[in-house]
Amino acid sequence: MQPTVFERSGSVLKDRGAGLGIPTAVAVALRDQGFIDDGFPHVSIRALTHSSVSGKDAHYGGMAGSVPTFLEAIRWGHLFDHLRSLVPDDDYKTGRAVADAQNEGDEVKVTLDDGSVEYYDIAVFADGYHSLGRSIVCPTHQPRYQGYFIWRGTLPEQELGDSSLFDETLQRVGFPGGHFFAYLLPNESGSTTVGDRDLNWGVFLPLTADELADHLLDREGIQHELSLPPGRMRVEIEKKLKQKVKPLLPGYYADIVARSRNTFGQGIVATIPDVYRRGRICLAGDAGSLVPPFTTSGVFKGMKNGVELITALASERDIDSALGAWEEEQQKAGEGLKHLSDVMTDKLIASVPDFSTLSEADLIEWWSAIQLTLEETMG
Ligand SMILES: Cc1cc2nc3c(=O)[nH]c(=O)nc-3n(C[C@H](O)[C@H](O)[C@H](O)COP(=O)(O)OP(=O)(O)OC[C@H]3O[C@@H](n4cnc5c(N)ncnc54)[C@H](O)[C@@H]3O)c2cc1C
Repeated sequence: MQPTVFERSGSVLKDRGAGLGIPTAVAVALRDQGFIDDGFPHVSIRALTHSSVSGKDAHYGGMAGSVPTFLEAIRWGHLFDHLRSLVPDDDYKTGRAVADAQNEGDEVKVTLDDGSVEYYDIAVFADGYHSLGRSIVCPTHQPRYQGYFIWRGTLPEQELGDSSLFDETLQRVGFPGGHFFAYLLPNESGSTTVGDRDLNWGVFLPLTADELADHLLDREGIQHELSLPPGRMRVEIEKKLKQKVKPLLPGYYADIVARSRNTFGQGIVATIPDVYRRGRICLAGDAGSLVPPFTTSGVFKGMKNGVELITALASERDIDSALGAWEEEQQKAGEGLKHLSDVMTDKLIASVPDFSTLSEADLIEWWSAIQLTLEETMG
């Protein structure tokens, strides 16, 4: 196989500060497949602690307790740099946007935005949530806004003072209609030494479509479609969000949010296509099934789509039967992700309990449906 990658962006793709949580099993699979090595910067998370604002402890909130987990916190930029280093420069074309793709006989005709045309045996669209590929392969399934926004920020660990609350722990605070989470990440240069790391936090908040549009109008009056990068949010919106979350969070977490600068955010969209290919044009990553970020499934999905495509092409005699077998697997995986998303959306957005009223046994019971579905979906 001789792949060519077309990347629309002409500049070096960079981390925007936020982290990713990936199941430890996915990190191990990435390493076993040779995508990352043992030295890849990560901070392990072994407990998910759940609390809610409570009169009893205004500073830390009322806590139900913790559930065990196996997650690794990584930075998007480190993963991108590792994966990018595996693609020879000659095969990676930056500043080249794909404008169209059509099946023609046994080939795919790919038209680039400068009007040039190239022919390939297969075209895989891994072009993100707003995918051109999805509109060609499965135009009936466009991403739909889910009615909530994730507001995100980071704070250097040094500014936290005592960071022991986050030792191998993701802190989650529930409130009606959403939740807050925070965990430690390697810093930009990859250090995981205590004191060097960054705290990565996010708050899922309900917003109407009109409110979302207002939140995505940036400091320079530019309207963004779905996400706002760090440093672009209007000062009055950031102030409004800080006021909005203050009564929802125990003082300790509200203070972390209040002290964070250059916060950013994204409206949450989702869709599950019913087909993942048309002829020899395929969908992978967010261009295929798209589910909310709290499922921690984005890296898993991209790896699964890609590795299974290579395996199918290597094991079937002809390309079309390989793609047929691959698509069946992706449809099953998409159904699994949809189920995971439904279970987690119910528990973490639609009907979040007051964790301060739950015992640790209640919490374990509440979490068990999520745990079971995570294991069924991602192993
Ligand atoms: C707030 C948030 C938090 C998340 N947290 C997690 C997490 O904790 N764990 C996890 O596993 N996942 C997480 N995810 C999901 C994860 O980030 C995505 O699943 C993943 O980035 C999708 O990768 P992708 O390569 O499919 O698409 P993208 O990362 O969107 O990349 C698409 C690429 O295609 C390029 N492109 C687009 N159109 C064209 C074109 N026409 N021609 C050429 N190039 C084009 C773009 O420039 C871009 O580089 C999160 C997502 C969000 C929004």
